[in-house]
This record gives sequence, structure tokens and C-alpha cells, in this order.
Amino acid sequence: MELDDLQILTIAYPGSERVDVLLYDPMPGGSGLLEQLLARWTTVISAALDVVGNCPSQCNTACIDCLFTFRNAYYHRYLNRHTALEKLQNWGDILNQSHIVPAKLPKAAPKADAQPVNDRESRLYEMLKRAGFPEPAPQKPINLGQPLGTTKPDFFFEDPNEDLEGICVYLDGMSKHLHGNPDTAQRDRAIREELRNSEYEVIEIPAGDLDDPQKMAKYFFRIGRILVGKAKAKDIRDNPTWFEATPSAPNQQPVESPAEIDWSLFEPTWLPILKSLAAAEESRSMGEKISATRDKL
Ligand SMILES: [Zn+2]
Repeated sequence: MELDDLQILTIAYPGSERVDVLLYDPMPGGSGLLEQLLARWTTVISAALDVVGNCPSQCNTACIDCLFTFRNAYYHRYLNRHTALEKLQNWGDILNQSHIVPAKLPKAAPKADAQPVNDRESRLYEMLKRAGFPEPAPQKPINLGQPLGTTKPDFFFEDPNEDLEGICVYLDGMSKHLHGNPDTAQRDRAIREELRNSEYEVIEIPAGDLDDPQKMAKYFFRIGRILVGKAKAKDIRDNPTWFEATPSAPNQQPVESPAEIDWSLFEPTWLPILKSLAAAEESRSMGEKISATRDKL
């Protein structure tokens, strides 16, 4: 999180000295910076007074030691720390609330506890469902006793014929599984060997294989042979209509189009510039999180 995560929008009034300045948070859902600013406004103002009042170079207008940054390079010739000091002293450190800007995007839907949370797990889950397999149990704990303890395959299927204890599907390549730690990798190998010795079928799918229809067809054939019989499993393998290479992103928030912004929230004089700004930043949600600092210059 950086100071530059906040955006500044300055709106001038032609024929007048008045300028409105909007400080807004362009991050969908908000970064939290504005709330922190509001909560510590007195500190913010006293820090600002220090910057403009006590320049180490005691410059006449502004310099690299006080107000100049890369971001405001275009305006360097207009900056004057003495003017800023005078304004800040006049305004004081009291903020007045004018109105609330209601959120425009829905809050992320709460997820059921047992549902796959990881994107790649979701992709695998969707493919398993599309292939016509029965509902798998996510993260079902299997106790292997000491010293191995409990393992939680990403997906677990019961064997309909009860020949096997079940099918454990592991989606590997994520930090919680076979990562760089050799101890963890060795423990995972021991767990899967023990599962196989205990009449479980173990399917290990490297996450990278999710994009490879031929490899996925082989895994699905092995799963299908147990769950739906050999003939149907061959059909699943040879007609991978269930395969989807492009990640579906169910957790992504909907992108709000500029047309859906409630323009009535803004003062009419701002509308032309706000609308062009919104059109230029289609993917951002301007309307969601604007907290305004307004003052007359
Ligand atoms: Zn200076």
C-alpha cells in the first residue's frame, strides 16, 4: 500500500478562484487508506504543517526537501510552501462530513466453509462436475495414525462399489502441498504411499496439468474407471467436453460500467469531468469510494 494508491482530482470553476479537490481511493472495495486518514486527521495536518513550515533548506517557495516529488513534477513552478502553510493554518484540522457515498459494488458473497477456496481447486471442481462425476467431498480429513497424522485430499470420492476405501485427489504445486521444503515433500510422499497401501486410490494432479487436456483426460479416466465404470470412463477420456483451459474467475467482482454510476450523487458542475474520467478508467469504480476534501481557495 502506497501513498500513491490514492488519487487526486482537482476541479476548477471557470471565472472563479474556487477549486474543489477530491481525494479518492480507486481500489475496488477500498484500500482503507482514506479511513486511516480520517481517523488520524489531526496527525496528518500537523505533519503537513511541519513539512511546509520547517523546510530543511529554508527555501523561498518550494524545493526537493519539502514539497517537490516526482508525482507533482508538472506543478513544481506553482508550489509555494508559505502559501500552503497559511492555508493549512487557516483551515485548521477540523473535518466536516457533507454526505456519505454509498458503496456501489456488492460485497463478496460469503463462501460456505467446505467449498473450494482456491481458484485452481475451483477449476478442477468445475471440470469434475462437468465430466458427470458425483459430488466430491472437499478437504475430507483422513486419519492415518502416528506418525503421519491426518491428511486432507483436495477432493475425495467414495467408491460406489466399495472395493476401495475411496479416491483421494490432490492438486499439487500450491504452497500447502509439495513445495520446496524437502521435509514436507517427503511427508507428502509417505502419506500417499500409506493411502495406497490402505486401499485408497490416489490421484496426484500437478496444478500445471489443469491446462493440459490430454493429461487431464488420463486423470479423469483413472477416476472414472472407479466411479462410473470403464466404458463411461473411456468416453470421458475420449470426449473431453468437460475440459476448460481458461480459468473461470467466480470470485472476481463484477466490473461496473460508467453508465451504472449514480451521477445524482455528485454536484452537477463536476459531472463533465467525472464522466470523462469514468470513461477513461472503465475498470475502476469511481463512485464507490470517494471521500471528498472540499475547500474554497
Ligand atoms: Zn523547501
